[in-house]
Amino acid sequence: MHTPDTSSPSTPKIVVANWKMHGNLQRNQHLIQQYLQGLQGDMPCEVVVCVPYPYLAQMQHLLAGTALHWGAQNIAKFEQGAYTGEVSAEMLCDFAARYVIIGHSERSTAYCESDENIAEKFMMAKRHGLIPILCVGETLLEREAGVMERVVGKQLETIIRLFGGEAFADTLISYEPIWAIGTGLAASAEQAVAMHSFIRDTVAAADSAAAKRLKILYGGSVNPQNAIQLLHQKEIDGALVGRCSLDAEQFIKICQAAPC
Ligand code: PEP
Repeated sequence: MHTPDTSSPSTPKIVVANWKMHGNLQRNQHLIQQYLQGLQGDMPCEVVVCVPYPYLAQMQHLLAGTALHWGAQNIAKFEQGAYTGEVSAEMLCDFAARYVIIGHSERSTAYCESDENIAEKFMMAKRHGLIPILCVGETLLEREAGVMERVVGKQLETIIRLFGGEAFADTLISYEPIWAIGTGLAASAEQAVAMHSFIRDTVAAADSAAAKRLKILYGGSVNPQNAIQLLHQKEIDGALVGRCSLDAEQFIKICQAAPC
């Protein structure tokens, strides 16, 4: 068992809800009302809700003036143009979105997105003042083969090679082992801490100042039970939460698991 760090965090942890392709206007409104009620008062952490594009306007309407932030789950790598079906970073800014998930494995696997593509999107988000949440992680086969650091290292090195280590300043990386996403089988705190340390060291080797200004979240079957252990690790700056973010009670408990 990895011993939790009981010291107070210098900055609040960040808990990101990834609603994936769920919701409708009515259900969203109800869920957000529940979030706001459950999280009122002293917020134990920073909370971000990443929704499907059509609901960004609804989030702006419901969340402007609250402590919650909102964002999207992808952007185009292009500024604008003849890219049917794509949504640009600038369009997200029209709805005051602050965050955007980049390179989630559910997208990169389904649409064969390369590390280079993901790197372009990451920089596009930054150019528009959005905070990218870059997802990195290995498959079960890769973990079993012991090459998880090589896989995650390559994902990071692509951005470092194209844009330099400074690109990581003031961004979020979410370590999301693919075998843990939606499976109910979260990484242990030891596994997450080891990979988070590797990620920070990799960025630090390229740019030590940027590494200090980078936050690293964990994602993959986070629930109210494992959140306590995970969020109390000093190497883990927060969580990206899929399934449990659709259940207000569970999501609020995850947020409350963050050390104050
Ligand atoms: C995710 O969507 O990134 C995720 C981690 O999902 P879940 O919490 O359902 O595993």
